[in-house]
Amino acid sequence: MPLVPLLPLFHRFNREHFSGSLVQGSQPLLAVRWSDGRLRKTAGFYRRGPLLAAAGGQGSEIVLSRPLLEPLPQSATESTLCHEMIHAWIDLVLHVREGHGPHFHARMAAINAAQNEFQLSVRHQFPVPITPPRWWAVCPCCGRRSPYRRRMKKAACRQCCDRHHGGSWHASCVLVYEPASLED
Ligand SMILES: [Zn+2]
Ligand SMILES: [Zn+2]
Repeated sequence: MPLVPLLPLFHRFNREHFSGSLVQGSQPLLAVRWSDGRLRKTAGFYRRGPLLAAAGGQGSEIVLSRPLLEPLPQSATESTLCHEMIHAWIDLVLHVREGHGPHFHARMAAINAAQNEFQLSVRHQFPVPITPPRWWAVCPCCGRRSPYRRRMKKAACRQCCDRHHGGSWHASCVLVYEPASLED
């Protein structure tokens, strides 16, 4: 599936599932873009901008993984974008600090009930082409699991540090390692 332009999808989902709240005037509250070829560990993420308080979210963005989503049907792009839009909505519209908490689950359930094009889940469930990892690094904050070849002491979850701690390292996001078997 060739890469689809993300902005029209963003505007449609914003109207259909977020009551237009992610756009002010005609200006989206955040940028939406495809990654370069290197984003392979996750299908997408939302990142709060550095100027959030002063400038109404300026610099915030959703990035979707070109290498992971390009070979998949468009519904994978749609569900990933919509998932990340829920994170953006919680952050920029509700102003609540939450990962996959009650607001996330409520909105996800409403969107899943409202349409049949795709199903949202808490984790992006797409095949990630990786060599067998030796460890899974698990974030105690958001539950995200990432494969690692070796354990890195005090490494923290990038997404949670960005989302909850303004991009600074924080002890609550330090990854916990689980040994991986070859079957993982
Ligand atoms: Zn998420
Ligand atoms: Zn995390």
